[in-house]
Amino acid sequence: MSRADFSPQLHTAIDAARQALAAADALELNAPEIPESHEKLADVLHQLLGALDADRSARLSVQHDAEFRNLCRAARMELYAATGSLQRLVRFEQALTRMIWPDTDQAAADRCPAAHPDDATPCGGPVVVTVLDTRDGGAKGCEHHAARLLASLERGRVYPLPDAPEGAASRVFRAAGNLRPFEWLRRGGDGS
Ligand SMILES: [Zn+2]
Repeated sequence: MSRADFSPQLHTAIDAARQALAAADALELNAPEIPESHEKLADVLHQLLGALDADRSARLSVQHDAEFRNLCRAARMELYAATGSLQRLVRFEQALTRMIWPDTDQAAADRCPAAHPDDATPCGGPVVVTVLDTRDGGAKGCEHHAARLLASLERGRVYPLPDAPEGAASRVFRAAGNLRPFEWLRRGGDGS
């Protein structure tokens, strides 16, 4: 730790201690000012210890903030990874369901891939866009479900499919801006 890192209080306390020490050193052994000098030395020493203590607390607090931010970053990465795994599991579960109960899951199978399994709303038209997450995992969808999916992703993107009608991706983007994430979980936000 270089001196440039010290707090202003610590700088002042160090300077005061040096001056008091120099003054004490200059005194003769039996000088009448000895008791006064002793008092002064004790005083600056207390100030120095106080400044050191405050400086250390500030330093620890900065260090804890940095550790907390790193922890948050790591947790977010884990969440991204877990979300990706869960989405793959959901698709797997859907495929299994279609294999085992082809009729009961017909309604879900009829909807576009961007429709969340818990979102009971029907498609709003043909599949016209692709929605991608930050890891380029994505799903094609109708404008209605693509907007709901996009609103639920952090930094998701939407692109038109080659045969999409003019402005499809822009409409999805604008619609997503007016939706909350996981819209289908809200009361009245889905068909449940
Ligand atoms: Zn759809």
